[in-house]
Amino acid sequence: MVLFDIDGTLLRRAGPHHRQALVDAVRLVAGVATTTDDIPVQGMLDQDILAWMLKDARISAARVEAMLPGIMARAQQLYAHQCPDLKRKVAPGVRALLRKLKRAQIPLGLVTGNFSGIAGRKLAQAGLHHYFQFGAFAEDGPTRGELARLAICRARGEGWISWDARIWLIGDHENDIRAARENGIRAIAVATGISTAEQLRSFSPDILLPDLRALTLEDLFAER
Ligand SMILES: [Mg+2]
Repeated sequence: MVLFDIDGTLLRRAGPHHRQALVDAVRLVAGVATTTDDIPVQGMLDQDILAWMLKDARISAARVEAMLPGIMARAQQLYAHQCPDLKRKVAPGVRALLRKLKRAQIPLGLVTGNFSGIAGRKLAQAGLHHYFQFGAFAEDGPTRGELARLAICRARGEGWISWDARIWLIGDHENDIRAARENGIRAIAVATGISTAEQLRSFSPDILLPDLRALTLEDLFAER
């Protein structure tokens, strides 16, 4: 099975619409103007970005907790309306790789810090949604490692993979590599996001690539 991150991995430079939806949702629900400018959003889960924005706006933890569900729902609604066509934002090698994996009947899932409504819309606008049979999304757990765990449990529980199946997680950020490590699965790091190959190398992924054009099915099946 292969699990994919979205931003910086399947898609590159998808535009400001995702951040804008978070900012607009906070303004509409919490009534405060915020920004994501000072937040290192790469590799973060959407609800953690929202919590950071609200903390910066000096909103108490109790109020944040009370307002988050409403803000999350509104952000996903807003994004669905604002999301542009993303077909030209698909990262190099992604379409060809997904086609090959699909043809080989390898189960494909998402492990993403995006809320499910945002992730689904992004992939639909990129023309990639039909490749993925399931996913674990921001709202499903507190950390990326936990999301990966949920995805693996689901795939095993549904009988899509055997208990000893080899599982890969592909991502562009150290948090993706960490999530793979926490679950004892293999990590592929691609330098198509904000992290450089050098930065990713220091987290020792099993495979490090400049982009996904370089990944073959043989790489996934090779003993190493
Ligand atoms: Mg990413």
